[in-house]
Amino acid sequence: MSSVLVYHTISSPLEPLVADADISPEKFERHLQWLARWRRVVPLDETLRDPRRNAVALTFDDGYRDNLTVALPLLEKYQLPMTIFVTAGFLGREPYLSESELQELSRHPLVTVGAHGLWHRHFNLLSTDEARHELIESRHRLAEITGKPVNLLAWPFGECNEQLEQLSAECGYQASWSVWKGNNGLHSLRRVPLGRRDDLARFVIKSSGLYALTKARWHRFNQKDETQNLKPGGAKQLVADN
Ligand SMILES: [Zn+2]
Repeated sequence: MSSVLVYHTISSPLEPLVADADISPEKFERHLQWLARWRRVVPLDETLRDPRRNAVALTFDDGYRDNLTVALPLLEKYQLPMTIFVTAGFLGREPYLSESELQELSRHPLVTVGAHGLWHRHFNLLSTDEARHELIESRHRLAEITGKPVNLLAWPFGECNEQLEQLSAECGYQASWSVWKGNNGLHSLRRVPLGRRDDLARFVIKSSGLYALTKARWHRFNQKDETQNLKPGGAKQLVADN
């Protein structure tokens, strides 16, 4: 069974980000080393073609600059492909990519660019028109900047529901990823979030397809409100996808 992993910033901030969203370059490299040796890492869209194959795909949310400056050189070293889900409205702000940095990233043969909303809003709280605007406009802006079609989506905060899943298909996305929410259909595909606590032992367990299956069942039974840890204000809340 395939496993799709989510990272955010590859850095070591003095104060940890909420939802364990940062991971040090050293820890991240240990993940890559292990994957390169023991697993088949494929571009994200390959997991759509045959999800039963025992592959891993790497994704990065929000569009942090260090995905270009820190993650990409390491991915090059191990020749592992990545998909970056960029929040279009954040481009040019600190600590995110600028438009020209996104262009540079998008030209790299190991990189696929996907959308992550325009302003990283809670989609569950938006009207249908607002959600549609976010989905269409973000995709359009990213395609304009990169000169390539943008067909993949990751839901900000992993939030989706049946209506949103349908909307994402209507807005032309080929597939969409949540974290644990949704039914793991084509527009609410599961991903496993990783962060600063994930040393190699935890990573080995979390990157197995079985972990995603078990954890998703646990979330469904507990109906946990995964947004409960969010605090108002500040950029830190923007990364709380898990
Ligand atoms: Zn996000």
